Formats: sequence, C-alpha cells, structure tokens
Amino acid sequence: MTALPSLFVSHGSPMLILEDVPARRFLSDLGNLLPKPRAVLVMSAHWNTRAPAISLNPKPETIHDFHGFPPELYRQQYPAPGAPDLAQRAAALLDAAGIATARVGDWGLDHGAWAPLKLAYPAADIPVAQIAVQPKADPRHHFAIGAALRPLRKEGVLLMGSGSFTHNLGGLTRGPGEVPVAPWAQGFIDWMVAALEQGRTEDLLSYRTKAPFARENHPTDEHLLPLFYALGAATPGAQAERLHQGVMHGALAMDSFRFS
Ligand code: ZN
Repeated sequence: MTALPSLFVSHGSPMLILEDVPARRFLSDLGNLLPKPRAVLVMSAHWNTRAPAISLNPKPETIHDFHGFPPELYRQQYPAPGAPDLAQRAAALLDAAGIATARVGDWGLDHGAWAPLKLAYPAADIPVAQIAVQPKADPRHHFAIGAALRPLRKEGVLLMGSGSFTHNLGGLTRGPGEVPVAPWAQGFIDWMVAALEQGRTEDLLSYRTKAPFARENHPTDEHLLPLFYALGAATPGAQAERLHQGVMHGALAMDSFRFS
C-alpha cells in the first residue's frame, strides 16, 4: 500500500460549513485529491488536554462546541464510526516513543474534526479517532507525536492536523466585501510558507521567536500546533505542498498543506 500523506488543514470559522467560500470549496474537493483512507486520526485545536490523550470512542457524537451561531449549524451531524483499534495502536506507538498517552472513552468529534471531514468525506463512512493538543507544550512535542505515528501512514491511515494557519480572532475585520490582508498577517504567512516549502524544520519549530509577528497571529498557539503534528508525520526531507491559500476577514489564513 502506498503511504498516505499527512495533512494540515485550516478549519476557519464554524460558519465555513454553511458558506460558499474558496476554503469550503477546497475542503469539499479534498477527498478527491487523496487515496481513500482506511481511517483518520485527527488532531484538532479544539481538544486541549494537559497530557497526551487519544479517543477510543466507538461511536463519537458530533460536538457543537461553539456559541451564538444559527440553528442550522447546531443541526449538523457527522455520524462517522470511531476507530478504537486504530486509537489503541496509535497510543501504543506513542507509549513506545516515550510519550505516555491517556486512552479516553468519552470524547466525540469537535468542530475542528467534523467540519473539515464532513466536507471532505460527506458519506461519513471512514472511521475517525481524535488525538488531543497540549496547549502548554511546544511545537517540538507535537512534532514528536506526529513522528511516532508516521508508520500509520503506510497502513492506510490519514494523519490530519486541523487548526488555523493564523488565529487572532481579535484582529479580524468582520463584515461584507473584500478586506485587504493585514501586513502583520501577510508577513507571518510569507515567512511560514517559505520555511515549509524550503524544509526549514528547525526554524519552524522555533517559529515563536523566529517568525515575524508570531504573537500577533497566534496569541496562543493551540491552532498552529496541529501543523507540527502533520509536519512530524512527514517523511524527513519530503517537500511540503501548499494545497490551498487564502485569507478571510483580513487576517484569518486558510492555508492547507500536504506532506508526503
Ligand atoms: Zn478553531
């Protein structure tokens, strides 16, 4: 079996699933860009734990973990089966790599997981497990999680990080019409894309001190940490491929990347 790539996707606002925008169209086509996975192990920015954790839930419920949105959004369901066998195998790989991982029975699918998967795989027939982000840990920790799970790519498992390439909700310009991209967002995006495309892993792992405007774009970095999971799962030396680019609301970068 050919190894599946690992992915980082920007999931944007919960409204993305209801809006006809380029990022939604990209995610809707994502399933056609890849061989069909046997299962998906998604690290979402919206499941935060102190220590590494993975979900064993055989029937994960759709979690509507957002407030103040239209009723239609709360009616969205993603009834994909869970992947407890995969989760056990992943937890064993992590334990063996010295990353002690909790097995959690009751976590469902938060919107960082189900929203992009519902667009990419609307049939909801691919089993899904979730793996948590540790917001107090650094990029290197999340990179190590991805690296430990890299063998799963050869077993037909899609390792997907779901977050946001930039994520300063206070810096967005809401409202209709085209909004120019804020220079502080563009500077960060350009630096990150160049570092990814040039394979400068050490610079990326130190992005908080090396990237321009890192703090402006990620006041907290739980939405970027899934990128390092995907990057860690990449074959060393493999080229990052930018699958989608675009900025919403002047500063919300929707970039997605494939690593092979
Ligand atoms: Zn989010």
